[in-house]
Amino acid sequence: MEKLSLKDFPDSQKLTTKRSSFLESKALPNRPFVQQRNQYAVCMIKEDRCIAEFVAIMDVVERLPVYKYRRAILYLVERHATTIVVGETGSGKSTQIPQYLKEAGWAEGGRLIGCTQPRRLAVQTVASRVAEEIGVRLGDEVGYTIRFEDQTNPGTTMIKFLTDGVLIREMMEDPLLTKYSVIMVDEAHERSISTDMLLGLLKKIQRRRPDLRLIISSATIEARSMSTFFNIRRKNSMVESADRLPNPEPAILSVEGKGYTVEIHYVEEPVSDYLQAAVNTVLIVHEKEPPGDILVFLTGQDDIDAAVKMLNEEIQHRGRHYLGLLILPLYSGLPRGDQDLIFTPTSKGKRKVVLSTNIAETSLTLEGVVYVLDSGFSKQKCYNPISDIESLVVAPISKASARQRAGRAGRVRPGKCFRLYTEEYYLKEMQPEGIPEMQRSNLVSCIIQLKALGIDNILGFDWPASPSPEAMIRALEVLYSLGILDDDAKLTVPLGFQVAEMPLDPMISIMILSANNFGCSDEILTIAAFLSVQSVWVSMRGVKKEFDEAKLRFAAAEGDHVTFLNIYKGFHQSGKSSQWCYKNFLNHQALKKVIDIREQLVRITKRFGLPLTSCDRDMEAVRKAVIAGAFANACHLEEYSQNGMYKTIRTSQEVYIHPSSVLFRVNPKWVIYQSLVSTDKHYMRNVIAIEPSWLTEAAPHFYQFRTPNPVLH
Ligand code: ADP
Ligand code: MG
Repeated sequence: MEKLSLKDFPDSQKLTTKRSSFLESKALPNRPFVQQRNQYAVCMIKEDRCIAEFVAIMDVVERLPVYKYRRAILYLVERHATTIVVGETGSGKSTQIPQYLKEAGWAEGGRLIGCTQPRRLAVQTVASRVAEEIGVRLGDEVGYTIRFEDQTNPGTTMIKFLTDGVLIREMMEDPLLTKYSVIMVDEAHERSISTDMLLGLLKKIQRRRPDLRLIISSATIEARSMSTFFNIRRKNSMVESADRLPNPEPAILSVEGKGYTVEIHYVEEPVSDYLQAAVNTVLIVHEKEPPGDILVFLTGQDDIDAAVKMLNEEIQHRGRHYLGLLILPLYSGLPRGDQDLIFTPTSKGKRKVVLSTNIAETSLTLEGVVYVLDSGFSKQKCYNPISDIESLVVAPISKASARQRAGRAGRVRPGKCFRLYTEEYYLKEMQPEGIPEMQRSNLVSCIIQLKALGIDNILGFDWPASPSPEAMIRALEVLYSLGILDDDAKLTVPLGFQVAEMPLDPMISIMILSANNFGCSDEILTIAAFLSVQSVWVSMRGVKKEFDEAKLRFAAAEGDHVTFLNIYKGFHQSGKSSQWCYKNFLNHQALKKVIDIREQLVRITKRFGLPLTSCDRDMEAVRKAVIAGAFANACHLEEYSQNGMYKTIRTSQEVYIHPSSVLFRVNPKWVIYQSLVSTDKHYMRNVIAIEPSWLTEAAPHFYQFRTPNPVLH
């Protein structure tokens, strides 16, 4: 197998002369260079200030480790069907390689260079960085597509960033992805469920489209197993023209970066509260350590918001010295303005403290970080096929993740990493690698998508990591009960195919598609849009009492879904006012997003020929439509429970209503939840009260009535 290094490409060094020739000819730049970066360069020439900015960007990009490998990468992509690029975070894989491909002509003739990311936020930030570097408006030459947001311009866009999930959806319309000349699957080491599906599907496409080039790029990938996976044999019919086709054997290129050393510190005793420990450590670092930004790895929006609040309070109480601390959260769903702050260089006398989810582990690079605080935890999807419960769990990270996190401290100079766990724990208890998401997920959506792409033998599908048969059986069971699959395990017509076409959790799709039976599609589309954004509340600002009062203004006795309808109505009546949102502790951006998503869902249902009907104030109809999708998530309050304990009807799992729900402490006897999050307990999010008889009405094949309670068939 070919493993190449820079010395295999003797003329690579010549590339370093490019920038100097530009500088020498600043007044009248030499043509080839201007042509390569023409739009930006032309604008540069007009204004000296712009030239300075451009040179500053060039200065950065030409010092990136990947720059030296430009020619090598282009050579391998030309010659090999698949190229695997391994390089540490920040080496320039995501932002530079698509540009190199464009410069080499891979986007000519109306073709597209695609680059997938597992995370939406990474898609947006990488795309806007690349647009900035080239000097074009985001959405034109460089664009991105994430679920419910398309910032591309067909015919103009040459480099397109997208989530791997969106690319899988594109296959439904264009199974061979004919628009793309090269697809770079980025962050492959993350092994997200969509990345794994995508890798399997791309391998299939490559057999039919040997001209398609793949780049698999990652920070830590086990390159050899990936290479074996992509080593495809050609069909005999292709052998004749083999000399014109790229080599099917994947090439591996390792981009060597110059990470600085990072000093690792551990706590001596295990900490009981990692949040408090993180806050204390930030304050100590600020007091004792020389300048340099701090990156803190926490788990999710909840604990990040809590830590932001704790730190801001400390800053207020402590002396002037602490006012130099700039506390910034980083998680997906963060408003655009806040995202930009993260990447703005820290001004003199200030110290940035970025509190992040594991998105900053490898997907995003923050310059200026010298200190990393690692809580040792992240939020991970977890699935138990026995209880059929999929939830987001705060779980210990792997050693591989811990090493990545520490590495973030050595970007600009030698740094320090403070691990908020003991060395013994790291050595003896942390797992070496994480488990691929495919093996800890509910497979319902994945199976629908594969079926819609004509892959019937799901167990026989070429997975990079096989899912468990138990999980597969559970998913088939649920799909059958929802009427999405028929007795032969084929997608039903039209329901199954319609569900496959909707970019939503299948339970929400079924809820929408059933809404007309209850005459309430207008209301259900609003609810579905709310369920598709993270949260519409802004909880961190102000006093808790005022926040609770604001919530009460919209709270409906039926539960969260009906509360959403009240918020939606209020927002419209206010003329979509941001002032109104501010007063009511609501996130204006999120509500605008709800309206946008709702419009898209209306368009989809129109395409299916479904009319828009409203049930006015008949909330029973709304609740029944919710049940039509989520009947499998029914729970019953334990009769003698003092603490609001529920049990799921299907598997008798203990669950509780999440404090963010309007039904928290109300505890109706029967409820349905939309999703679960798990910390110390399983918490139900987005909960609605129901009558038990509605369950047997909605799903007689699933529940039967046994006095006094329905049970599973
Ligand atoms: P990789 O994909 O190899 O982890 P990237 O291509 O994402 O690396 O980043 C390369 C470099 O580009 C970073 O080290 C940083 O200097 C710069 N960079 C990336 N994104 C941004 C951004 N949003 N703002 C400023 N600089 C950025
Ligand atoms: Mg990257």
